[in-house]
Amino acid sequence: MSEPATAKTTALRALPSVDQLLRTEAAVELRQRIGASRLTSLARSVADEMRAEIQSGELSGPPTREGLLVLSVQRLKDACLREERSRIQRVINATGVILHTNLGRAPLSDAARNAITEASGYCTLEYDPATGSRGRRGARVETLLMELTGAADALVVNNCAAAAFLILSVLAKDGETLVSRGELVEIGGDFRVPDVMANSGTRMIEVGTTNRTRLDDYRHAITHHTRVLMRVHQSNYRIVGFTTSPTLSELAILAREARLILFEDAGSGALFDLEEQGLGDEPVIRDSIAQGADVVSFSGDKLLGAPQAGLIVGKREIVDRLRKHSLYRALRVDKLTLAALEATLELYSRGVALNDVPVLRMLALQPAEIDRRAHSLVQRASRKLSDSAFALELMKGESAVGGGSGPSTHPETTLISVQHNDLPAAEVQARLRSLSPPVIARIADGKVLLDLRTVDPTEESELVEALCRVGRRTTPLPWIN
Ligand SMILES: *Cc1c(COP(=O)(O)O)cnc(C)c1O
Repeated sequence: MSEPATAKTTALRALPSVDQLLRTEAAVELRQRIGASRLTSLARSVADEMRAEIQSGELSGPPTREGLLVLSVQRLKDACLREERSRIQRVINATGVILHTNLGRAPLSDAARNAITEASGYCTLEYDPATGSRGRRGARVETLLMELTGAADALVVNNCAAAAFLILSVLAKDGETLVSRGELVEIGGDFRVPDVMANSGTRMIEVGTTNRTRLDDYRHAITHHTRVLMRVHQSNYRIVGFTTSPTLSELAILAREARLILFEDAGSGALFDLEEQGLGDEPVIRDSIAQGADVVSFSGDKLLGAPQAGLIVGKREIVDRLRKHSLYRALRVDKLTLAALEATLELYSRGVALNDVPVLRMLALQPAEIDRRAHSLVQRASRKLSDSAFALELMKGESAVGGGSGPSTHPETTLISVQHNDLPAAEVQARLRSLSPPVIARIADGKVLLDLRTVDPTEESELVEALCRVGRRTTPLPWIN
């Protein structure tokens, strides 16, 4: 046999067993942190990985027992750290995308955060302390929704997809639902209008064309199987140019004549006109109700700035049918969601939402204010970073709304561009991501870009610190210890 084969055999014999690895001092400490069974399976993976690397020749060098043990322990530590870091943890969102679905969509207001803490123990979820008897779950949230939208009744489910599913299942199952070909939208991969129709057991009847759908297209498609006219907000795309579609009021008149239900899936929706924030084409839920929609669904964690939820408002007899259906029980929300939603809706009721709901506050942030904050942050960081290989510069750019809202709205912003003399942008981005809390940045034209629109002023010191850690190349990263 050849030399390398012998070296490999020696190395394989010197490789510590899983048991040996688990008996090390380091393993005893790691076991406290992640538990015995997880540690054992990680130790197995490390041993398998090392064996495979020796066999493939990837891991060579002096295969001493001692050396391999040290390396195995280091890898076990790294694996544990990676595991701990895979928990849900706070991040600094420096992407400038306000509703970042991967980063948890809407950040909650202080009021909503406090409400979650308050409700997390025993609470008055279905209890009325005034009478000592059972109270109705979600009653206050429903009342607030009715007041804020002018609807006669309201109901809350898990998300807008669940709302559409419940509405179509209860109102249109085994019948037909008409929808314009221009509204067959897909929201982020797993919400597609045709699929929701199919899952709800209603037959989707497409009317009109992609760019032009007339009232008569709906009228001519109505049969005695038709149950629902559905209007879907296009959300994340727009059709521009030679287009037409009936107004909601026209659809409402047709629905009434034909004794059908008009359902609008408003997507994000807004509780007041966001024209000034550049979002004039988001449906205002109060207007949809006033124009005659029988039932409207919208998301809690998009422009509303609340937790994930699907909000349903509409006519009493329709919403009550949804409430009494057995599916509702499977789709309803928990106490933490209700508490946070209630606190958020109260901010709207009190007229302080523009200032107190983070999503709206970030949307309304003036470019001059962001510019001032960016200048001051760069100054602070530069002072600390005088000896680094970093160059921080300011440049004009655009933020984004995200979350399937306002695809053509690009709020003006000032970006901080981060360039490292020795490291490519992707490496700088990865290092920012590896910090605790991770800093999430975007890359454009080979530069790492930070947008303070989505960074809370209270996070700026952490951001300066993060830049310093990444800028000083000698700083060990947390998982390299
Ligand atoms: C976003 C959106 C949905 C899905 O909402 P979730 O709350 O994420 O389930 C459904 N319909 C429309 C039109 C949307 O914009």
